[in-house]
Amino acid sequence: MAGREFCAFLIEEQEGKAVASRRKLTTEALPDGDVLVRVAFSSLNYKDALAVTGRGKVVRRYPMIPGVDLAGTVEESTVPDFKAGDQVVVTGWGLGERHWGGYAQFARVKADWLLPLPEGMSLKHAMSFGTAGLTAMLSVMALEEHGLPFDEKRPVVVTGAGGGLGSMGVAILSRKGYCVAASTGRPPLHEYLRQLGASQLLDRQELASDSGKPLESERWGGAIDTVGGKTLAGLLRGMAYGTSVAACGLAGGAEFSTTVFPFILRGVNLLGIESVMCPQRRRAAAWNELKQIPSSLVEMMTTVVPLSEILPWCDRILAGQVRGRVVVDVWA
Ligand code: NDP
Repeated sequence: MAGREFCAFLIEEQEGKAVASRRKLTTEALPDGDVLVRVAFSSLNYKDALAVTGRGKVVRRYPMIPGVDLAGTVEESTVPDFKAGDQVVVTGWGLGERHWGGYAQFARVKADWLLPLPEGMSLKHAMSFGTAGLTAMLSVMALEEHGLPFDEKRPVVVTGAGGGLGSMGVAILSRKGYCVAASTGRPPLHEYLRQLGASQLLDRQELASDSGKPLESERWGGAIDTVGGKTLAGLLRGMAYGTSVAACGLAGGAEFSTTVFPFILRGVNLLGIESVMCPQRRRAAAWNELKQIPSSLVEMMTTVVPLSEILPWCDRILAGQVRGRVVVDVWA
């Protein structure tokens, strides 16, 4: 079949800098893969913003179509598991880093990377969750596997709560009945976070400022940390005996400086969460759980933008100014 022309957001390397532009390409230019997907939506994640702006070493080869996730409809397939018309989602597996990703109207990917769109979920809804929703759910699953208490006196903290992963974490935990303390640097988001289910609001500085003590009072029953750096160190000092922190992000820095006391005197678990290479069976379980989150909450977290507005939204996400999730409509 002759190549189909489509619109894509491409980044190229010019004199050591990442330069982004919208381009017309044909499907013949797409990389090898088993399945051609007509993309409907992708999403804008922190990592995408680093890739697009060239501010982080995310892209492994140029030219690159960014977009670490996508949801769409199978157009052509060489494998029996997927046929034309099937609706699918892909997150991770090097999409937007090593392999052309979701900021295009078509993508060709390996069949192993695809999951069927969860029943009852629309393509847009799936990308409202996207990588952030998946990672938040993987975090909650890991915390629960290590024993997460339902304790009003010791809430589960979510840091970077106003962002994509944080908002998802708050919504998932509160939906499951946990008492959630949302940490944010943006007081205007307090009402939004309450609507997502947070029962307590913390100022970002509360966790990030160093008391100089290796341990503090046992305040937290669990945590999802999307911020890292001093915030993660502060969280660890206040974790209750035998509790766990799901560490999944570094929006506040990659450095990690703490003492061994939270681990050897309080038995705290530090659980690393990784969504890119996470096995398909665990992803499918996480996506299945995401169906429980009411559409109204997902809508409240979501802003939809066209391909033409990706650049300004990348700047906003890196400045920590985006509320919740940004879905990219690649046909708008
Ligand atoms: P967002 O930009 O949507 O959210 C990050 C939030 O962190 C911001 O909204 C802000 O929340 C807070 N924040 C930003 N800058 C700072 C700062 N300098 N100091 C303290 N807090 C800050 O990003 P995402 O939710 O998409 O991603 C969050 C992190 O998780 C990123 O590091 C990303 O790379 C990582 N990630 C990891 C995955 C994995 O598999 N482990 C998958 C997906 C993302 P507020 O204003 O409310 O304080």
